[in-house]
Amino acid sequence: MKRLKHFSIPIQGLKGGTHNFEFKLDEEVFSAFDFGDIDKGEFLAKVRVERMTGHFDLFYSIEGKMLTSCDRCTADISLDLSAEEHFVIKVGEERKMVDNVIFILVGDFEFNVAKYLYESICLQVPIVKTIDCEDMKEEEQPCDKTTLDYLNTEEKDDDKGSLWDSLKEIKFEN
Ligand SMILES: [Zn+2]
Repeated sequence: MKRLKHFSIPIQGLKGGTHNFEFKLDEEVFSAFDFGDIDKGEFLAKVRVERMTGHFDLFYSIEGKMLTSCDRCTADISLDLSAEEHFVIKVGEERKMVDNVIFILVGDFEFNVAKYLYESICLQVPIVKTIDCEDMKEEEQPCDKTTLDYLNTEEKDDDKGSLWDSLKEIKFEN
């Protein structure tokens, strides 16, 4: 995770009170992880850390677009995604996460938020990636009309009955 060093917050050096950070997540960040379903796109994360007595509160909200291909017609589409999260960070005996509490060690001066931000976006990726072209102006529709028309025709053909049914209607001469 060396490449994502700019996502490190000098957490234990923060003074009491509120601290705001902004991070941009793009291809460089997505490619640093070997899990998740996002390769292309751009997101902005607004991160707020509040140093309290005995713990830190970490809040963030993320907004942006992922670029992917439509599951119906394979055209390039862009999906708006957003996420919000709150974690409590505490110093503990070992690094671990229990529910929404993240434990760090006394010596962990920096806290890297990249993984958490990326995970939150991944959780918002829909299983089926499509957009409602029907609700958009024709010139703004990214979907491939030809492919969609073809798929629609295929579905109609299925209703027409099997080849066997049409063969039965052919009369043979003896
Ligand atoms: Zn499509």
